[in-house]
This record gives sequence, structure tokens and C-alpha cells, in this order.
Amino acid sequence: MRGALGGPRVLLRRLREVMAEPVSAQDRLDKVVVLIAANMVAEVCSVYVLRVDGTLELYATEGLKRDAVHQTVLKQDEGLVGLVASEASPINLSDAQSHPAFSFRPETGEEIYHSFLGVPILRAGNTLGVLVVQNRARRTYTEEEEEALQTTAMVLAEMIASGELSALARPGAEPAARHSLNIAGSTLSDGIALGHVVLHEPRVVITNVIADDVQKELKRLDTAIATFRADLDRMLEHGDVADGGEHRDVLEAYRSFGYDQGWLHKMREAVMTGLTAEAGVERVQSDTRARMLRASDPYLRDRLHDLDDLANRLMRVLMGKDHAPSREQLPENAILVARSMGPAALLDYDRKRLRGLVLEEGGPTSHVSIVARALGIPAIGEIANATGLVEPGDAIIVDGSSATVHMRPPPDIESAYVERVKLRARRQAQYHALRERPCITKDGHKIALMINAGLMIDLPHIDETGAAGIGLFRTELQFMVADTLPRIGEQLALYRAVLDVADKRPVTFRTLDIGGDKVLPYMRNVEEENPALGWRAIRLGLDRPGLLRSQVRAMLRAAAGRSLRLMFPMIAMVEEFDKAKALVEIELTHLRRHGHALPERVEIGTMVEVPALLFQLEELLARVDFLSVGSNDLMQFLYAADRGNSRVSDRFDPLSAPVLRALKDIADKGRKHGKPVALCGELASQPIGALALAILGYRSLSLSPSMVGPVKALLLDLDCRKGEQAILPLLEKPVGSVSIRAQLEKFAEAEGLQL
Ligand code: PEP
Ligand code: MG
Repeated sequence: MRGALGGPRVLLRRLREVMAEPVSAQDRLDKVVVLIAANMVAEVCSVYVLRVDGTLELYATEGLKRDAVHQTVLKQDEGLVGLVASEASPINLSDAQSHPAFSFRPETGEEIYHSFLGVPILRAGNTLGVLVVQNRARRTYTEEEEEALQTTAMVLAEMIASGELSALARPGAEPAARHSLNIAGSTLSDGIALGHVVLHEPRVVITNVIADDVQKELKRLDTAIATFRADLDRMLEHGDVADGGEHRDVLEAYRSFGYDQGWLHKMREAVMTGLTAEAGVERVQSDTRARMLRASDPYLRDRLHDLDDLANRLMRVLMGKDHAPSREQLPENAILVARSMGPAALLDYDRKRLRGLVLEEGGPTSHVSIVARALGIPAIGEIANATGLVEPGDAIIVDGSSATVHMRPPPDIESAYVERVKLRARRQAQYHALRERPCITKDGHKIALMINAGLMIDLPHIDETGAAGIGLFRTELQFMVADTLPRIGEQLALYRAVLDVADKRPVTFRTLDIGGDKVLPYMRNVEEENPALGWRAIRLGLDRPGLLRSQVRAMLRAAAGRSLRLMFPMIAMVEEFDKAKALVEIELTHLRRHGHALPERVEIGTMVEVPALLFQLEELLARVDFLSVGSNDLMQFLYAADRGNSRVSDRFDPLSAPVLRALKDIADKGRKHGKPVALCGELASQPIGALALAILGYRSLSLSPSMVGPVKALLLDLDCRKGEQAILPLLEKPVGSVSIRAQLEKFAEAEGLQL
């Protein structure tokens, strides 16, 4: 084989010609295997394609019996070919038959071949098939030959991913590359959307895979790496780390990869086999992805993202283009697929064309989820490798109700969803009809249903839902979606607009809740071991009062001549509330002294998010005008379970006795002191959560706008007294199971309440 005919570069050039020929898919594949076998002086060359049923089908061969084509089908773990596919790495043997995985298929006639070299056909790290060469003689293929075969496999990957081979397949046995996938994740924003994939960070599409001049390509690669290193060095040295919204440690990690000799060597080797510089980068990245996707170590999987970023940056340097999709380019019914995304990036897309969002990361309380809900865009998170499993333009369905994503759905699934969308629209119309109806339970309890908001885009929801007001206005969202710190004038303008739209309906503004995981890209980030327990929200506000005071001033001025309700996040001690309230007094005095018009009335309250407050309720209620329970944070602190970490966030049920007892205690004490108590965490946005809260005595709930209708429909049918009789005794005695969910469901069913 040392005397290979012309080497890999000639082979690639010939393959390029074959790819351009106007022949059938089978003819093309047949020509490809002949070319590879001849070029590598192998007696056998075969292509196996991974099918939807997980098996590997022989699609073309030179050297094995022709009759076996489309007849030989191997299980994914069967034989050496199966092993190459499942491990996604090459196998190179001089005596294949003595390998324990060798499986003999008489129809192929392969028993006479001893040496075996098989490589996976990979795309974005996913196995699409296996490419094999075999020889009679016992010989070991050289590293260069292995490398050359992997490069060749890249060309086949393009062919399989293009869908060209589907025409050769029997129904139900199509190539897996284009098959339907149904993957479960977690719902970030409810709803159902049908559309087509748009990659938020499009893979760099390489138009030219095969090099004309290898020396030139090597030089391009070297120059690109030098440019890329210089960029990283400059960003790190000039301290303008925040420019790209990245953290120093990520850039440091990039830099260390950027100087990693192993990585560079692999890319150079790939280019030497005849690829263009960008195709070389992609090939190495695809191999790395394949290995890392199989790693169970979460640290390694995280590094995969860094490496993906790095490879993408390098490819962009090489192609000299900005590949971010522009708003104008967004097609109709776009479903964005991204690894992760910030709220500002989501807002940049054209709302009219955007239908759904799929993320590899992201928890339900992350800010991109909040924005997705505000926009009414169904979104699913925690879909591992989502960006690697789809191609731009693929049909895709996002189903928030079952937390699943259907990629390339078959026609029956698609039509079932079309029906569901119609049904939902009808139900939405029914909720809409309840809009004007006051929310009063069957036994006469009035429950104020408010909405959570934070951006201008939320304001139309007040009228659309018929909400009683805004129960939580998250002021940090304006700060988080901005590129620079919003000036006091901009804050004032937003608060005024909110009060104008709300008109007579109450709005509860919450002062800035930043720090911890709510990072502002333009503010220096303080490294903390436990950000959720760190220097955040009111703690930051009291230590750096400038920001808090200017925000309070903007609120007071916006509410001139009307009522203002404001509250503080993350209060842990009554003294903190006293200090924060004193700042409001100072601002009031300041405005009065300067002749500004003042609000007619100012009510000051606090969020209840820190468990320590549960044991200061008497003192707290004596001071505040109202309380609002932040169940998202309260839950995470009560159970010591990070709300953003999917491994632990679902482990504890919010509808459990300890949480419900705590919530009841807050409501009872509030009533005793004559102080209103609301709840504005996500618990209120789930019908079953709202049911529990109404039974516990909550008479004001603040929820996601899309859930006002379903929650109202449920509460209108609720007899609170019956609910109290069924549920409250469970909280008083020792409970068998900590969760009360099952009993709530039983009660709802008996009462005909729709959860
Ligand atoms: C909460 O913690 O429940 C809450 C409403 O605040 P946020 O989700 O903004 O932290
Ligand atoms: Mg909170």
C-alpha cells in the first residue's frame, strides 16, 4: 500500500469529480468505492450506512460479493464494523479474524481478507456510517493511510447528510442521518411550534473541502492560527474581556487550547491529506466531538463546548466572514436551535418570524426562558447536542407540553401536531373569553391574578390577559438586555411607560436583582464560589447604594401623582429592609427639596426568598406594607438545591409538606397583621401550584402571562373550602409521603378541575 496510486490528494481530487457527475446515487457510491480501493491498493472497499433502526447496511462495495449490497445488515454492536460505529473511532488490524468482535457473514465472502481498516463516517461528531478497506495479506495500515481514509470519509459524510441516499432505502430503513428524532428535554416556555431549523450560531458552511494546493492551505492554516492567537492575546492583555461578553477564564482556556501542540499537529496532518485549511479544522473537530460526546464526565462535555467555539472561531478567521444570521435572513416559521443564548440575543430576532427555541442548556428560570415566555415563544432546554443533530432548514416541532422536540418528524406526527395547534388555538379563544370576568372562586373568594413582567414587550399582556396588574416587575431585565448600563433617564422612561399602560391597575416594581447568576456583561464580574448565595440583589444594592438610589429615584419620579409599590429582592434580615427603606426616604426628601412632584402614595414591601425571613415574620410584618413570596429562590434555599442545575432542581417537589407549611405560615401571619401577601414565583404559573396556593390562603398571585387563562379557568371552578378540608389536615399531621401533589391531583379530579 505504500505505493498508493497518487496518494490521498489525487484521490480527493478524483472524488470531487465523481461528486459533480450527474449520475444516480448508487452509481456514484459504486464509483467512490472503486476509486478508494484503487487509490489505497486495497482489495476491498465498502461503505456501510447507519440506518434509522440503528443497524448498519452495506450500501456499496468493491471486492466483497456484489449480491451482499443492501442485503448485509449488521447490528450496531455487531462485528468490527459495528464496533467502529459505536465507538466512533477507527479500527486498524492486521489480522481481523482473530479479533473477538469479528463476525463472519458468508454472503460477503470476506473470510479471505485478513487486514482491516475501518473508520467512522462522522458529521458534527455524529456517526453516519462506516468506511472500510481490507486486504488479503496480513498487514498493518500506516497512520497516514488511516488519516487519508478518515479524510475520505468526510466526503461521504457530505453525501449521506445531503439526503441523496434516501432514494435507495426501503421505508423504515432510511439512513439515520436524516431520520426522525424525538428527544425529551425540559420545558422553558410552554406552547407548541412547528417550523424549520435556524442555527443561532450557524456551523460555518465549508464550501471548498478539497485543496488545490496543499502548501498554500498549510500556510493559510498557520496564518489563521497566528491571527487567532494574537486576537486572544490582545483581548486578554487589554482587559477588554467584557467586549464579547466572555469571561476571562473562558478566554484563558481558549488560549491554552490555541497553543496546544497536539491540536495544531492534528489539523496540519488533516490538511496534508489534501483538505483545505477550514475542512482540516472541521475534520479534527468532528473527531473530537465524536469522542467527547461519548464521554460521561461532565467536565469533558463542558470542554467540548469550548473546543467547538474555538474551532468555529478559527474557521471564521479562515473564511473571513461573519456567519451570524441577520434578522432579515430569518425565514418564516423559524425555530432557533442554539447551545445557549442570552435574553438580548433572543430579542434581536424578528418576533413575527420566530416560532420556537431549542437549547442544549438553559433551565426554566434562566433569563432567556423568561424572555421566551414574555414573547410567547415555546422553548425547550437540555436537548443534548441539539445543534449537532439538525441541519439548517430541517423540519422541527417544539412541544412544551411534553418537553419534547421532534426533529424531521414523519408526516403522521406532523399532522397530529397541526391538529393540536388548532385545538390549542380554540382553547386560547375560550380563555380569552374569560378575560373580562373577575377571578372569584365558587365559594366567593376574590383572587387577584397579576402578571410577571420586566420589559416593554410584556406590557400588551396586561390587556390581552385581563390581568389585575403587574405583581412582579423585574427591573433587572432592562439592565440585562442592554449593552451598557441604562441611564436614569432610560429607567425613568420605562417605569413611566409601565405605569401609563397599567393605568389604574397596580404595578409592583422590584429593585435590581443582579449579581450571582444574573450577570451584566458591562459590569465587572466578581468571582464567587457560590454565586446564588453571594453578593447579589439587595446586598449589592446596600453596599453600592449609588445604583439603588438612582433606580429608586427613577421610580419615584415615574410615579409622580400616582401610587408606587416597590419591593426589595433577597432580604434576609429585617435590618436590611430598614436600611433599604431608609434609602427610599432619603430619595423622597431629595426630590421634595428639589421641587419634584411626588407619588401620591408609596408602599414598600419585600420579597420572601431567604428562609431566615420565615423566622422574622412578626418583626418583618410590623414594618412592611406587603410581602411577595419568591418561590423560585425560596425553594432552592429551603431544599439547598440550585434552581438552575437540572440535576437537582427537579429533585424536590415544591408541592411538598415542608414548602406548603412554610407558605401557609407566611399567608396566615400576613392575614393576622393585616398585610397583603402575594406569591410571584413560577409555582403560581402552574395550575396545580395555583390550586395549592389558593387553598393555603393566597389571594394574590403573579404569573407568566400565558398562564393567566388556564389558572383563572381553574380557580373559577374551585371551591376553596372543600380544598381546605381535603388538603390542610395533611399539613398538620405527620405525612406518609412528603409530596402532597398526588392528593392535590385527586382533589382536582374529584372536583372536575382542569390541571
Ligand atoms: C423568585 O425567586 O421566585 C422570583 C420571583 O424572583 P426571580 O425568579 O427573579 O429570582
Ligand atoms: Mg428570586
